[in-house]
Amino acid sequence: MKEHLVPYTGQKYECKVCGECCHNRIIPLTKNDLDRLQRIVGDMDFAEYLINIQSFVLSHREWDGGCVLQNDMKCSIHDQKPVVCRLFPFASYPKPFDGSTNNAYKLPDGTIVYIYIDTACPGVETTEKAPMPAWLIPLIQRIRLEMALTRFFYEGKENNRT
Ligand code: SF4
Ligand code: SF4
Repeated sequence: MKEHLVPYTGQKYECKVCGECCHNRIIPLTKNDLDRLQRIVGDMDFAEYLINIQSFVLSHREWDGGCVLQNDMKCSIHDQKPVVCRLFPFASYPKPFDGSTNNAYKLPDGTIVYIYIDTACPGVETTEKAPMPAWLIPLIQRIRLEMALTRFFYEGKENNRT
């Protein structure tokens, strides 16, 4: 799936359960994700470490680029899926990458983030508006916290090794 992010300004979104977002996307995992999924799956084959982004990511099947946790175009761990999977088709950045200012939102801790939505997702209606999903801002806040803890955990391990 080729990403096409545009500033989020209230575009309507309703998942069509097509499973396309589980193909050919790099999905970083937090330490919480890794621990939770390891308990469920029983091994670590679902993840690999990407040195260029210094993060664990979900592994893909070689033959179709699908996530190894996808089964019959459905997520086999739907209720427990990684936080970045839950956020899709939304994405948040600390700074706008296209000069936009109409997609700035304040998190509960006061941080300003710039929210984008991926119009490659067939569930996004670019011509219709809807209220922001109630889960979006709390989830972005949670992901930022989990990512910060993950960096702290692995950078600490790296420092202990040297
Ligand atoms: S690509 Fe969009 S519509 Fe399809 S499963 Fe993913 S979120 Fe739902
Ligand atoms: S964990 Fe589930 S939702 Fe996330 S990419 Fe894999 S199959 Fe899709």
